[in-house]
Amino acid sequence: MVSVHTSPLAQPGTGDAGGMNVYVLNTARELARAGVEVEIFTRATSSDEAPTVEAEPGVLVHHVPAGPFEGLSKNDLPTQLCAFTGGLLRAEAHRRPGHYDLIHAHYWLSGQAGWVAAERWGVPLVQTFHTLAKVKNAGLAEGDSPEPYTRVIGEEQVVSEADLLIANTAAEAAELQGHYGAPEGRIAVVHPGVDLGVFRPGDRTAAREALNLPQGALVVAFVGRIQPAKAPDVLLRGLARLREQDPELSEKIVPVFVGGPSNTDPYWLPRLAWELGLGDTVQWRSPRSGEALAQVYRAADVVAVPSHNESFGLVALEAQATGTPVVAAKVGGLPTAVAEGRSGLLVDSHSADDWADALRKILGDTSLRADLAGNARTHAALFSWRETATGIRSSYRRAAESHATGRLQSAC
Ligand code: UDP
Repeated sequence: MVSVHTSPLAQPGTGDAGGMNVYVLNTARELARAGVEVEIFTRATSSDEAPTVEAEPGVLVHHVPAGPFEGLSKNDLPTQLCAFTGGLLRAEAHRRPGHYDLIHAHYWLSGQAGWVAAERWGVPLVQTFHTLAKVKNAGLAEGDSPEPYTRVIGEEQVVSEADLLIANTAAEAAELQGHYGAPEGRIAVVHPGVDLGVFRPGDRTAAREALNLPQGALVVAFVGRIQPAKAPDVLLRGLARLREQDPELSEKIVPVFVGGPSNTDPYWLPRLAWELGLGDTVQWRSPRSGEALAQVYRAADVVAVPSHNESFGLVALEAQATGTPVVAAKVGGLPTAVAEGRSGLLVDSHSADDWADALRKILGDTSLRADLAGNARTHAALFSWRETATGIRSSYRRAAESHATGRLQSAC
C-alpha cells in the first residue's frame, strides 16, 4: 500500500490524519489476518521514526525519506513525489525480484507514485481516492480554497492508469464515472467498515463522568478534523439559531468538539463560537482513539456530521455502532453510512435554519431519539473491516486478472 501524505500510525482527527489513516490501518490488519502480507509506504515526517515499524502482525510501515520531515504541507507534496517514488523503487530493489504482487494506492498523490512503481514492477495498480478534487470543488465550503487544477489532472491520470478503482460507495462510483470518465467496469464498490468491538454501546453516565460532562445535559458531539470542509461552523450556526428559536431547549444543550485544527487557523472555530454567543457552552476536547473515543460517542445524545462533502463518513458509523444516533448532511457517502429516518436524520442543506430544525427535532423528542438509537447499532453492524477486506481481496483478484489480460493483449 502507498499512503504518501499521512501515516497509518498518526493520530487521526487533526492535521492531515483522518478517515484514510483509519481505513489503511484497519484494512491492512484484516488483509494480514486473511493471509495477505502488507507493507505500507508513507513519507517520513520525523527523525524519531524507525525506517520500518511493524504496525500489526503481518503489516509493516516503511517511512520513506522525501523532503524535510517538517514544514511541508500537503499542497507542497507534489514537489516531493519524485523523491518518494525513488525511495519506493529503491526499497523494492533490495527485495527478491517479484516481491510485491500488487500496489494499492490511497489518495491521488500515492496513485502517482504507485503508477510508476506498478509499471516498473509489472504489477497491477489498485486505487482508492478517499476524496476527489472535482467533487470537493463542487461543494466547497464558504471561504475554503478550491483544490488546484494540477490535482484534477493528477487524478485524471491515475484514473486512466489504474487497473481498478475502489469506490467507498455507489455515489463515489458515480462521481468517478461522471466527473472523471472512469469506465464502470474498472470500478469496484467496497464499503469501509467499523470496529464493532471498540465502538460498542456502553454506560452513558460513566462516559460523561470520564469526560467531565454534565449528566442532565443534551450533548451534541462533533468528532473529526476541524476544517471548513467538515463544516463544524454549520453545526455552531444551527445551534445559535436554535437558541434564538427555543431558548428553553438550548439551555440544556452542551456542544462538544473533539479533534484538532487541520490546515486552518486554530482559533477559527472558538472565535466563531464566541461571536455566536456560544463560547461559554462549547466544550473542546483533543483528538483521541479507541476506548477514549468510544466514550465520546457514548456520552453524546447525538453526533453531528455536517460535512460539505464526505466520501463515506466513518465518524457517523462509529457513533451508530455505540448506539448513538446521527444528524448528518445528505452528501456523498453519508446516505449509505446513515439509514435516513431509522438510525439518524439527514439534512439536505447547510443552512442554519435547516440545521436548527433537525437539531430541534432530534433533541426535543426523547422517543424519536430512543427509536433512532435503537436502530443505530443494527445499522452499523451491517459494516465491518473484515467485510471490507474481503471486498478488497476480490478487487485485487479482479485487478490481477484485468492486468494479465491487458499484458496479453499488448503482447499480441
Ligand atoms: N478520529 C479519531 N480521533 C479523533 C477524531 C477523529 O480517531 O479525535 C477518527 C475517527 O474515529 C474516524 C476518522 O478519524 O475514523 C475520521 O474519518 P471520517 O471518515 O469521518 O472523516 P475524514 O477524516 O475521512 O474526512
